[in-house]
Amino acid sequence: MKTSSSSIQADEIMRRAAAAYLGLAIGDALGATVEFMTAQEIRAQYVVHRDIKGGGWLRLKPGQVTDDTTMALALGEAIIANQGRVDAMTCARAFDAWMRAKPIDIGNTVRRNLLRYRQSGVPCAPPSEHDAGNGAAMRVLPVALATLGQDEDAVAKTVIAQAHITHNNPVSDAASIFLALFVQDAILGMTLPQIYRQRVLPLVAAQPVFSYRIKRLENPSGWVVETMRAVLQAIFDTDGFEECLVDVVNRGGDADTTGAIAGMLAGALYGLASIPPRWLERLDPTIREACKRQAYALIAHGIAAGEH
Ligand code: MN
Ligand code: MN
Repeated sequence: MKTSSSSIQADEIMRRAAAAYLGLAIGDALGATVEFMTAQEIRAQYVVHRDIKGGGWLRLKPGQVTDDTTMALALGEAIIANQGRVDAMTCARAFDAWMRAKPIDIGNTVRRNLLRYRQSGVPCAPPSEHDAGNGAAMRVLPVALATLGQDEDAVAKTVIAQAHITHNNPVSDAASIFLALFVQDAILGMTLPQIYRQRVLPLVAAQPVFSYRIKRLENPSGWVVETMRAVLQAIFDTDGFEECLVDVVNRGGDADTTGAIAGMLAGALYGLASIPPRWLERLDPTIREACKRQAYALIAHGIAAGEH
């Protein structure tokens, strides 16, 4: 697998995988407080929002997470139970069970296409130019971990099978594949400038809609293009985990989801030691343990698959 040619140690790969998962949950818990607020409203109320304190439109407990994290955990659990294999039917069943358990929030596209799956039994939504929300991209992490070390085409195929259960859209696909490969590169020790050349330049060349150097994007919507622009701006304009997450959630809009995605990327890039202890301690302990346990189990499957 790719790690054999890299200097990064197996235990550091495990720690970065755990940091990506914890980053996802922390970004979600931090951002949810200000989800759907404008950047201006956040400034008026908090000056800078930088602590996990719950509240928000969902009236969360401090450290509580939302659908972004719980969908990823439902997916990760199903992949682990399936010995690391990712197939659409297994994922669709896991999402259906997740929806039956009455999650605290759920996206419209996710709900509509899971109800369609319940009726048809087909774990793939029909193609739709409108289904370009961020709901498939936000939950991609377990697939990225389980396929670590596989070649890019195999990773992309698996990412798409997972994504199409609810979002069958080329822009959502491009974002989901990009995020999975970014996480894998970062976990394997690639630096941010290397990832910029290897992933960001080709993405923007192939899909100019993702050009993110326009102007500072505030109030990003749930459209995956705006999510990606806000996340990429925050990643490339900061150089640490905390700074990146504070930057992205204070833009407001779909802040739990930009927080979750930025947290996943920043965790993989900067590692476990970069996560502020006050955030780690505040995160719901059940969620914290599940993120760590799943990260290690999924990476073990990924490494085993990559060595075949
Ligand atoms: Mn959410
Ligand atoms: Mn959201």
